Amino acid sequence: MTEDSKDLHSVTNLKGVGPKISESLMSLGIQSVQDAMFHLPFRYEDRTVLTPIGDASYEKSVLVEGEIVKSTVVFRGRRMLFTEIYDGTGRLTMRMFNFAMAQHKALKEGLMIRCYGPVTPGPNGKQMIHPQYKVFDKSENLDIDSNLTPVYPTTAGLQQGKIRKVIHDSIAYCDKHDLLKESSYLNTESGFIDLWENLKFIHNPPSDIDIQTLIEGKHPAQRSLIKEELVAHMLCAGILKNELEGRSGPTMDKISNAEEKFTSSLEFNLTGAQKRTWGEIKSDLTRNQPMRRLLQGDVGSGKTLVGALSALHAHENGWQTAFMCPTEILAEQHHLSLSEWFSSLGLKVELLTGSTNTSDRKEIITKLKGGEINILVGTHALFQEDVIFNCLGLTVIDEQHRFGVHQRFSMLEKGGTKNQSPHQLIMTATPIPRTLAMTIYGSLETSIIDEMPPGRRPVETSARPNSLRQKVIKRIKEVCLSGQRVYWVCTLIEESEELEAQSAEELFKEISGLLPEINVGLVHGKLKKKSKDQVIKKFREGKIQLLVCTTVIEVGVDVPEATLMIIENPERLGLSQLHQLRGRVGRKADSDSHCLLLYKEPLSSLAEERIKTMQETNDGFEIAEKDLQLRGAGDIYGVRQSGLMDLKIANPIRDSDLLEEAQKDAIAIAKNDESYAKTIVLRWIGSRVDYSES
Ligand code: ADP
Ligand code: MG
Repeated sequence: MTEDSKDLHSVTNLKGVGPKISESLMSLGIQSVQDAMFHLPFRYEDRTVLTPIGDASYEKSVLVEGEIVKSTVVFRGRRMLFTEIYDGTGRLTMRMFNFAMAQHKALKEGLMIRCYGPVTPGPNGKQMIHPQYKVFDKSENLDIDSNLTPVYPTTAGLQQGKIRKVIHDSIAYCDKHDLLKESSYLNTESGFIDLWENLKFIHNPPSDIDIQTLIEGKHPAQRSLIKEELVAHMLCAGILKNELEGRSGPTMDKISNAEEKFTSSLEFNLTGAQKRTWGEIKSDLTRNQPMRRLLQGDVGSGKTLVGALSALHAHENGWQTAFMCPTEILAEQHHLSLSEWFSSLGLKVELLTGSTNTSDRKEIITKLKGGEINILVGTHALFQEDVIFNCLGLTVIDEQHRFGVHQRFSMLEKGGTKNQSPHQLIMTATPIPRTLAMTIYGSLETSIIDEMPPGRRPVETSARPNSLRQKVIKRIKEVCLSGQRVYWVCTLIEESEELEAQSAEELFKEISGLLPEINVGLVHGKLKKKSKDQVIKKFREGKIQLLVCTTVIEVGVDVPEATLMIIENPERLGLSQLHQLRGRVGRKADSDSHCLLLYKEPLSSLAEERIKTMQETNDGFEIAEKDLQLRGAGDIYGVRQSGLMDLKIANPIRDSDLLEEAQKDAIAIAKNDESYAKTIVLRWIGSRVDYSES
C-alpha cells in the first residue's frame, strides 16, 4: 500500500464519522485514517485502579465508585445538580451546571456510579465538577480498564470520547487494510523499527508500564517516534529550502515617498529597533530572492507597524499583501489599524475570516483577483483554494507559531507561478532559539525588536490565593470607578473549551451580581462573532469597564486604558502564555499597570516557580529562557501549548539529545531515497502538504 492511495482511506470510511465530525477532524489536520494514527495523546489517565473516596487527595484525578445516596437540583444563582456518593470510606459530591433533566432522573438513589476526574474541595467536602461518569446497577459487574486511557488534543465540538473512538477505529481499520505496516529503516543503529507496533503502543499502553517514563517521553516506543518526527520536520525544512532556492521573488526596488508620508502621519516616532528591523526587511525585499524572515519582538514592541511598512512597500511596487492572523479578533484589530493608517494613502484594505458572510466573501474574492484589494487581512480563511490573488508579493504572518507547517507550504503556492514565490515575513513574540529555528524552518533570517516604544511601563505583578478573592473584587471596583479598565481572564481547563466558556459565564454572572455599579462584559470562544465584536468595541470605548474573558484575548487586543488584569488559575498556564496575556496591560503611559495572579492552593513547585518568575521580571526573553528551562522536566503539553511549533510528540528541548542523530538520518534519507523522504513528511506533517510537482 503506498501513501498515494491515501484518499481512499479517508476517516469518513469509519463508522459514525459524518460531515460534521470530519470537519472537526480536518481542523486538527486529520483527513485520513493514517493521519488519525499520528494524532498522539498528550497525556494519559490511569483508570486502572479504583481509589477509595476516603483516600482520594485533592487535585489528583482518580477513579472512584460508590452508591448514589442523594441527587438534587438546587438553585444558587443558577441551576446545579448535586449528586452525593458514598463508598464506605468517604463521601463525594458530583457537581454539574450543564445537565439535562434526563440525566438527573438517571442518577437514582440506590444505584451505583463510577466517576473519573480531579477531586477538589467543595462546600460539602470532596467534590468532582463535571466528571466523566457511568451509572450502573448493584447487580452489574463493571470491568476496570486494563490499559491506560490516552487523552488527545481536540477541538471545540469534538469530545474526548469521540476522538478516542475515531482513533481506536482507525487502528482497527489500518490493521485490516495493512496500512502503516511497512517497517521504517530510519534508525541505522538499532536496525528496523516497527512503526506500527510503536504507534499501537502509544495509543494504548498497558497499565503495568511505568507511567513516569511515559510522562517524561522516555519510553523506547516514544523515542523512536520522536526521532522520526524530528527527521520529518528536517526533511520538510530541506524540501522547502530547495524549493525556494530554485525560485525568484518579486523585486521591490522602487522607493517612493509613501513611507515618509505614512511615518510622518503617525502620532509617534518609530523606535530605533523598528527602524533597524524595517531596514533589514526592506533590503531583503529589494532583492529578487524570496525573503524568509522572522521578526521577533516582545509583546507590545510594535511588530504590526513593521509589518505594515512592509505591506506599504509591496504596494508601492505594485504587489498585494496577505496579512495572516491566528484569531479573528486579531485579524479584525489589524484590519482596523491598517485601514486607519493607510486610508489617506489610498490603499484598499479588506478583511476575510471564517465569519465573513457569503456575499461579502464573493465580492472580496472577485476584487482580490481583479487586483482591487491591496492588503487582505485574515485568518485561516485565506488558505482556501478559491482565494486567489492577482499579484501576491508578500505574506505577513502574525504570531506564526499557531499556523501549521502545511499552511506555510500552502502560502508558497499562492505566489502565482511555479518559479516565483512571494516574500514571507513571520512575526512572533516567542523567541525561538536559533539552532531550533534552523532545524525546523530550514533557512530563516532573524530580525529582533529589542526596544519597547516609549511610555511602555513594566507591569507590576503580584500573586494572591483564591481565598483573598473578595479583596480582589473590591480592588476591581476601585479601578473601574477611577475610569480605568480591567480584564479578568479565566484560563483554559485542559482540552475543554466548553468548560472554559462555562467557567467564564459563571464568573460573569457572579461578578455582575457583586458589582452592580460596574458594566461587565463577557467574551469567550463559544460566542458568536457579532456579540464578541460588540463587547470588545464597548470595552475599548469604556462603555464596559470589566471584561471577563478566556484566553481568546491572549493575542493582540490593544486597549491602553486597561491597567489591571486578573488571571484566574495562572497555575494552569505556561510562562510564555502568562507573559503574552500580561502584555495586554501596561500600555498606558501615565499610569501604573498591575497583573494579579489569583491562584488556587496548593501550588505545585513548578507552578510556584512560574509565578515567582512572573513577579520578578517583565523581560520576554528572560521569561522565554526560564520557560524552556522549566519545561525540561518533560511538560509535553506545555511546549505544544506555547506553540513553539507544530509537533505531535517531539519536544526539541527535552529531546535535544536526538537532534544530531536525526539530522544525520535526514541527510541520508534526503540523499538516498526521495520517495521515502516524501512518505515520512506526509506521515508526520499531514496530507495537506501541497508539493508543487516540479
Ligand atoms: P506587538 O509587537 O505585540 O504586535 P503592536 O504592534 O500591537 O505590538 O503594538 C502595540 C502598541 O504600540 C500599538 O498600540 C501600537 O500602535 C503602538 N506602537 C507601535 N510602535 C510604536 C512607537 N514607535 N511608539 C509608540 N507606540 C507605538
Ligand atoms: Mg502583535
